[in-house]
Amino acid sequence: MRAMKYVSTRGEAPSLDFAGVTLAGLASDGGLYVPESWPQFSPQEIAAMRGLPYAELAARVMEPFVGDCLTPECLRELTAKAYGRFAHKAVTPLVQLDEQHWVLELFHGPTLAFKDVALQMLGLLFEEFLSREEGSLTIVGATSGDTGSAAIDAVAGLENVEIFMLHPKGRVSDVQRRQMTTVRAPNVHNIAIDGSFDDAQAMVKRIFADADVTAKYRIGAVNSINWARLMAQVVYYFAAALQLGGPERKLAFSVPTGNFGDVFAGHVAARMGLPIEKLIVATNVNDILHRALAEGDYSTGTVTPTAAPSMDIQVSSNFERLLFDVGGRDGVALAQQMRDFDAAKAMRLTNSQREGASAMFASARADEHDTLQAMRWACEECGEMLDPHTAIGLHAARKAGIDPTTPVVTLATAHPAKFPDAVERATGLRPGLPSRVGDLFAREESYIELPGTYEAVRNHIMERAS
Ligand SMILES: *Cc1c(COP(=O)(O)O)cnc(C)c1O
Repeated sequence: MRAMKYVSTRGEAPSLDFAGVTLAGLASDGGLYVPESWPQFSPQEIAAMRGLPYAELAARVMEPFVGDCLTPECLRELTAKAYGRFAHKAVTPLVQLDEQHWVLELFHGPTLAFKDVALQMLGLLFEEFLSREEGSLTIVGATSGDTGSAAIDAVAGLENVEIFMLHPKGRVSDVQRRQMTTVRAPNVHNIAIDGSFDDAQAMVKRIFADADVTAKYRIGAVNSINWARLMAQVVYYFAAALQLGGPERKLAFSVPTGNFGDVFAGHVAARMGLPIEKLIVATNVNDILHRALAEGDYSTGTVTPTAAPSMDIQVSSNFERLLFDVGGRDGVALAQQMRDFDAAKAMRLTNSQREGASAMFASARADEHDTLQAMRWACEECGEMLDPHTAIGLHAARKAGIDPTTPVVTLATAHPAKFPDAVERATGLRPGLPSRVGDLFAREESYIELPGTYEAVRNHIMERAS
């Protein structure tokens, strides 16, 4: 297998191989790593993937990204192990809603959100790469709920990995908090901070840039700035397309979007040769991405809490990867653009960025009423219970004006039981937790509360990290 090199979107950090980017997370120049060039599959190669078990499909799609960092046998062992933990044999089954609309259920993993699809794999990759160099990794992350639980499940009990996960006190759902705090493993540290998700996220960024910390520990990332997460998400775009007649037939995807990771994986699938008609970026009222794609205006406002908290986000880290890829891959110019954005909290997309993005992306925004309506429609007309994030995707899918002969697949990013209050408000029905997480409310919780200051969090991590 040919080596695959990764370069930073800001043009200065050294290029790395797959193992390097997996352990590094963020590039040292503040940019994000992307493959130097996109691997290609011919229509014949894609057609030959039809009918494969998910774990084998995953290995085929990941192989060119992994390059020579894993043998084909090792890669297959890891995908079999990661996807063997899913509660559905198809891993990401497709469900039909009507003549045109489908949902791709990505929530059959251990913590009931699509984050498991990537993080189960990422945990195994950490273990594999660290064992080779007898190194260790200290993961520091911030979560509004789903990333934290999926990451903790994926690394709990690993020998060379320690995880510190910050969540905003009182601002994650009970199910989300318990999925993090009831995991009892010596390498798991939960921290509830006084403050918002944005405050937690800002502290994590400071940790990465804190020379005293990085001199002592190798800090790792589990959010979608980590390339390996996006790579794992490319696979289910192939899985859905192959089910619906690809590569001979085009289809569209609607993706409930926050940090732009999931939908960027769709862009990667298209770059690799998968025939995709449109990628629909679905946002809630926190609509910076909708404004950026529709009007070229990428400017932050204040975050409004909604029924879909995992999409209540201001700055979409992975949008930088798109701007790099469609804007001529000019790291020096993009670094300047991002510095200007950091200072002004606003920027205009360049003409080439706008044109490049509009060829593949459409966008739509759902307010709270639209979200509840979409949940109600799916329940009453199709007999399917959707969580609020998925409902935003469905709303956008039905508004996008895609030709009726083209199937539209909405990514179902969370199980409805993760957000039972919103589902009940919309449909009158309260979804029950699947039995695999059934005793969640009986287990004992463990977490520490800290004030919302950087020093408190940093000192806590420095004292506890081994
Ligand atoms: C994380 C998350 C999203 C947003 O995904 P991005 O990759 O950040 O765009 C949407 N829905 C749910 C349920 C999530 O957990």
